[in-house]
Amino acid sequence: MRGLWRRSLQTRVVTSTIVLSALAIGFTGWALLRDVASELAESRRDVAVAEAKSGFQYAQDQLDSAVDTEAAPQSEALTQMVDSLTAARGTTRTYELLLKGPLSSDDALGPVRSSSAVSATTLPTALVDRVQTRDGTYWQFSDLSLSDTSDREPVVVVGRQLRAPGTGDTYALFYLFSMQDQQSTLTLMRNALLLGGLSMVLMVGGVAWLVSRQVLDPVRLARRIAERFASGNLEQRMHVRGEDDIARLSTSFNQMATNLQSQIRRLENLSRLQQRFVSDVSHELRTPLTTVQMASEVLFDARTAFDPQTARSAELLKGELDRFESLLSDLLDLSRFDAGAAQLELETVDLAEVARSCADDPMLQRAGIEVMVEDGGVAAPVLADPRRIDRIVRNLLANAAKYSKSATVSVTVAQNDSGASLSVRDFGVGLDSDETQRVFDRFWRADPARVQGGTGLGLPIAREDAALHGGTLQVWGQLGQGTEFILTIPKHMGETSVPALVSELAP
Ligand code: ADP
Repeated sequence: MRGLWRRSLQTRVVTSTIVLSALAIGFTGWALLRDVASELAESRRDVAVAEAKSGFQYAQDQLDSAVDTEAAPQSEALTQMVDSLTAARGTTRTYELLLKGPLSSDDALGPVRSSSAVSATTLPTALVDRVQTRDGTYWQFSDLSLSDTSDREPVVVVGRQLRAPGTGDTYALFYLFSMQDQQSTLTLMRNALLLGGLSMVLMVGGVAWLVSRQVLDPVRLARRIAERFASGNLEQRMHVRGEDDIARLSTSFNQMATNLQSQIRRLENLSRLQQRFVSDVSHELRTPLTTVQMASEVLFDARTAFDPQTARSAELLKGELDRFESLLSDLLDLSRFDAGAAQLELETVDLAEVARSCADDPMLQRAGIEVMVEDGGVAAPVLADPRRIDRIVRNLLANAAKYSKSATVSVTVAQNDSGASLSVRDFGVGLDSDETQRVFDRFWRADPARVQGGTGLGLPIAREDAALHGGTLQVWGQLGQGTEFILTIPKHMGETSVPALVSELAP
């Protein structure tokens, strides 16, 4: 859900529109209902008070006309009055009655006569107190149950004191008007508002979805085209339709794409030209170099006949010409990679065997390096070009001998289903993270001042060789801890392989 929210603009637009419109509609509905409810209650109260007042008048008249001074007949007269009042409108009666009194009675509540199951205790005490202590008509909204069985319902209670002139007793008469009808009207209205609000929110959500689609579809199309452009399809352009913002975006995008394309083409041409130049120069230098090299061999062989200074010059000449020759052959190799002309001569190569034979190189023994090979005693066969694999491993070992100042180098071979890996690990000076990133750059050397005779092309060529097999050459290093190179070659050509070794130097 969170991913969808982050990724999809449309989800965000539609969700926030729905939430905001639901809030607005909810608030409006709530305010409307509140107003209607108070309006309904007030009008019901006005009608109830008016009706109650005429009832009070009738009751007072009844009491006034009864001239009994005895309590018993007066009580009977009152009961009759309550009965006649409540019976008056039969089933269409809109109120319940409760007569309390005489209020001077010792009984705290006083005798009560009422039209239904309403009891004096169910009446709101605040209102009862006010009516009993003061003259005048009082009302209050309340929630009461008007019979034994019915649930509580909203009522408006109106009360007033009555005085019997015969005995001088006072009574409290309460009218209870049900507000069930108003309640039902409110419920009906609330349901209607809820339904209306819900469909409105859904409608607004739908509209937001449609509108956002209208805007986002061209943006999505632009994104797809930009992605295709970024993945190298430089001919991709957007369709420009109309003159709106999207059309202007498309025009700008197309302009940018055209500029980028021409820049890229220009750089590609330049790079091709440079590659051609390097390749041509290397080829051109080859023939004269061979001649010069032959001449230097002659001088080198005859050096014993020269005076010491000339003999030293002959040695230097041969050394530098050898270096020159190896640089030229490296450059030619690289230009073959660049031109896509490098060829593989595939056969089954056992990486464990390669590791052992390279470790036996007398050059390493001369450099005083002890190479430990760990191959698990099993062959690690891959389909590869043995000459190139051999060159990679020899280069890695020679580098370890030349640069690491490590006394031991360990070579490990391992394999998994997808391929075989060979690691060359030294325990010398190491490389920092910045250096490990640059170690495969052409002509790069960690410290150009280190006079080790390298050209900075060995590792770039090794990586190209690995890539030509569909494999990888990775490096890890830590200053003072050493360096580890891991070569991985897939077992089957054209498939990708997962390295079978993990470097200890990996962070
Ligand atoms: P070259 O050996 O011809 O200089 P490479 O491409 O083989 O070129 O190596 C590039 C640079 O990487 C070297 O000059 C050296 O500074 C650094 N380097 C390579 N291998 C190691 C290693 N095992 N330990 C430390 N530095 C290394």
